[in-house]
Amino acid sequence: MRLYYDLHIHSCLSPCGDDDMTPNNIVGMAKLCGYDIIALTDHNTCKNCPAIVEVGKNNGLTVVPGMELCTSEEIHVVCLFPTVDEAMKFSDYVEKNSPPIQNRPEIFGNQFIMDSEDNVIGQVDNLLTLASFISIDDVYEVVTSFGGVCYPAHLNRESYSIISVLGEFTNDNEYPAAEFSDLTQLELYKERYPALKEKEIITSSDAHYLENMRDAQFQIDLTENSAQALIEYFRRKI
Ligand SMILES: [Zn+2]
Ligand SMILES: [Zn+2]
Repeated sequence: MRLYYDLHIHSCLSPCGDDDMTPNNIVGMAKLCGYDIIALTDHNTCKNCPAIVEVGKNNGLTVVPGMELCTSEEIHVVCLFPTVDEAMKFSDYVEKNSPPIQNRPEIFGNQFIMDSEDNVIGQVDNLLTLASFISIDDVYEVVTSFGGVCYPAHLNRESYSIISVLGEFTNDNEYPAAEFSDLTQLELYKERYPALKEKEIITSSDAHYLENMRDAQFQIDLTENSAQALIEYFRRKI
């Protein structure tokens, strides 16, 4: 079945994510925009995934638990998991492998953890946007060991992308996909980095504000509408 997707969305738990990016607001906006399946990918944490997956279930929207991991080289990688349980175990691992530097909400923004009724039930004290200790060389294997899949984020951006940091995108990586935040320069990128021609190109919003969520445009062909089917889809590409 062909499903409209957006696999890169931040909640109010990301310091740079708007406080209005609550589980219910994100699910409501995703439904208005016409999505069938979305992923929550906060920076270096999955702690709002339990709430939003539940809200999605109650509203007929598949929400894939995920994370946008910042590697030790400051490369952003989208990580997706079949279940909340696996995502939360990975989240704990990332927390243990990140610098213990406190967030200053007045400067960087709030890091709210919410329940499925949009109540603030806690916050993350350490700043989530810092580079973790996990290298880009290890990230694929680590995410796979937690049952997930991962691929580099926003390749067309000039910061925090694998190309902007390493200056290359080669074939000796195992990523099943590459993410672009828009397709305007895709052909240019494919010419310059031919390895991209063999990758599934995923286009997601990287929304930090509700108004960044766009009308559904891109589709993915899954055997069923579930997080498990999405993970299997990417695994078959490897
Ligand atoms: Zn990013
Ligand atoms: Zn992002």
